[in-house]
Amino acid sequence: MYKDFQSFLRQELDSIEQAGLYKDERIITSPQKADITVSTGKEVLNFCANNYLGLSNNQELIDAAKKALDERGYGMSSVRFICGTQDLHKQLEAKISEFFGTEDTILYAACFDANGGVFEPLLSEQDAIISDALNHASIIDGVRLCKAKRYRYANADMADLEEQLKLAQAQRFRIIVTDGVFSMDGNVAPLDKIYALAEKYNAMVMVDESHSAGVVGKTGRGTTERFNLRGKIEIITGTLGKAFGGAIGGFTTGKKEIIDMLRQRSRPYLFSNSIPPMVAAAGIQMFDMMSRTNELQDKLHENTDYFVGKMKEAGFDIKPTESAICAVMLYDAKLSQEMATRMLEEGIYVVGFYYPVVPKDQARIRVQISAGHERAHLDKCIAAFTKVGKELGVIK
Ligand SMILES: *Cc1c(COP(=O)(O)O)cnc(C)c1O
Repeated sequence: MYKDFQSFLRQELDSIEQAGLYKDERIITSPQKADITVSTGKEVLNFCANNYLGLSNNQELIDAAKKALDERGYGMSSVRFICGTQDLHKQLEAKISEFFGTEDTILYAACFDANGGVFEPLLSEQDAIISDALNHASIIDGVRLCKAKRYRYANADMADLEEQLKLAQAQRFRIIVTDGVFSMDGNVAPLDKIYALAEKYNAMVMVDESHSAGVVGKTGRGTTERFNLRGKIEIITGTLGKAFGGAIGGFTTGKKEIIDMLRQRSRPYLFSNSIPPMVAAAGIQMFDMMSRTNELQDKLHENTDYFVGKMKEAGFDIKPTESAICAVMLYDAKLSQEMATRMLEEGIYVVGFYYPVVPKDQARIRVQISAGHERAHLDKCIAAFTKVGKELGVIK
């Protein structure tokens, strides 16, 4: 059998490669941080990590993880409800609830699991899920696993959302689901308007704060802080794998009864391992740090404003952003790849995205700013963009 299957796979892989969509891994040989070393020995500045607060290599978190490693061992070898829960897991859940101003929290191995396990235990064929067209793959997969009727609205399009909500009046319970920040444009979901429509059409709201937690809002509490909706949203999901240290782990936080039900019936929680104690301990340390100081959020916001301002001054077309994601618009797919390659030669690691990851003729370079970037890093990145941009005729 495998001989036939092998040639089938070879053909598929070839067609992926011919379409220019083959994904290669770039190999890093240093810790994750602003200046990294790659396997060729070259040192580059990293502008494509989700390391928004620069915590991936933070000493305080490393020390907390090491201490837990010594005191609590390496792994749990169990799901949470059998023998995979330490006091550390409960403490981390409490910290997350405090951070987001919610009633209770349940941890998962990843946000992919949190989203995969949130809909099916809560909703049935009598209910409706109304989902933004640009929501993350894990939300799409989670919705697929649930029998609720599906409605989709164009990205952040409130008129379309209202239409879908009218149609969804036929169902018993309704939930609107959105990413907090959309990863390709960096735009923030208009949660105030979504919430108002939810009130008007009797619906609940779920926000995935993966790209917004730690970033959006004055103190990084996410879109509920940005729109003054703390405690009002039924479900928030998020990851510990981006701004919050970048290791691993996800969570669902929100109304008490919802979290209770997830502990009873959410399959990735019931049938998958607990996060390691060291990750829980570092997470606790991280949330303590967040409540002690706003230094990192302030620096991130300053860095982002500085970068966007200077890039616009240089003549680049940047999508309006309220996050740490800056889309440098080039429109042309081939140009986006050329530019990313040239930028790497200049020592700046950024990624070009084009169709089908973004709409046709909307190719771009995505730049992700971090509190781990110093002014000199940003200046070097802007200088490289300006040099390469002139070379390639993107700016004058
Ligand atoms: C990254 C991301 C996830 C997945 O998070 P993991 O913890 O890495 O599984 C889910 N949702 C959104 C919106 C994301 O950006």
